Amino acid sequence: MDLGGEFCLVCGAAPPLYSGRMCEKCTRERVKLAEVPKNVPWTRCARCGRIDFQGKWCEVEEDELWNELVQRNVEFHVEVEDLELGILAQEVDGRHTLVHLQIEGIIDDLLYTDEKTMRARMSNGVCLTCTRQAGNYFEATVQIRSSARRLSEEEFLVLRATLNTLLEEMPDDPMFFITSEGPVTGGYDVVLGSKALARAWGRHLVSNHGGQIAATTSIVGRKDGADLTRLTLLYRKPGYDLGDIIRWRGELWRPSNWSGEGAVLEKIERRERTGASWRDLEAATVILRQNELHYIEIVSEDSSVAEFLDPNTWKMEAVRLPYEHVTGRKLLLARIDGEWLSLPYMGMDGE
Ligand SMILES: [Zn+2]
Ligand SMILES: [Zn+2]
Repeated sequence: MDLGGEFCLVCGAAPPLYSGRMCEKCTRERVKLAEVPKNVPWTRCARCGRIDFQGKWCEVEEDELWNELVQRNVEFHVEVEDLELGILAQEVDGRHTLVHLQIEGIIDDLLYTDEKTMRARMSNGVCLTCTRQAGNYFEATVQIRSSARRLSEEEFLVLRATLNTLLEEMPDDPMFFITSEGPVTGGYDVVLGSKALARAWGRHLVSNHGGQIAATTSIVGRKDGADLTRLTLLYRKPGYDLGDIIRWRGELWRPSNWSGEGAVLEKIERRERTGASWRDLEAATVILRQNELHYIEIVSEDSSVAEFLDPNTWKMEAVRLPYEHVTGRKLLLARIDGEWLSLPYMGMDGE
């Protein structure tokens, strides 16, 4: 033995030596790639299935859950490099899942591989949202009504569905829930856990479906020196939608956009656009809904008149072309008072 050279501090073996001046065999015996606990707990809301994820209740995919449990509970060697992790979950029963781990990594230039299994154990809890919901907690009511015309059930469904769209788009918030909802005389009411959610929905309804919001705040108590309030939003949808034909001030128009305070109207007779407030529009009447318009192929046309087959009688009819027309494009036709009227296309038109 060369007493002047380096040697393993544990067994005296010759180099190469690694950290702690040990040979590979002695190093491997002492280095642990990862400390994996036998059992790891996690909590799921028994009512809605959300998972308690770092103190927040969220909807989490299974894979993400196992991955998170590993990150949270497994202690990897601090010097590990090029860590590779394989996770395979094996459900034992409703509460228990075996999480098999394949771990690979480099420590001090030595490649280590290890296989471990930990048992994930689920316990039931109740998240904040469900606690509040179960207690019938609410902060706001949105009342959906209409002006001028009674809305059909389908129209209410369309308006109500926008709340689901909005909930998907908005950030997760435990108070964004529906406490109760249902039809009432002349409308539909939705009771919500959050004033912010109610306001956001109100804005969404006005910008996408027109109409007005009236807000009322009532004081229901006091807490920590501040008033506790509840918000009631009354949303009134106009009797028409974008693209419908309305009669207003003796002429036919189509609303092309909501402006917040009213609607932008396009005249059918000639190129003219105007903004009208809700108050201006109170006297407007709906002549035809957009879904009652027809797109019809032209049989022949000259510069001012087109001929087409009436879809009801299959007789040839003639109609004056609208002020704006592209040769060969289908006619956009409205049947008003027994007469056909050909409409100029608006941006939203087309099959
Ligand atoms: Zn050694
Ligand atoms: Zn829950």
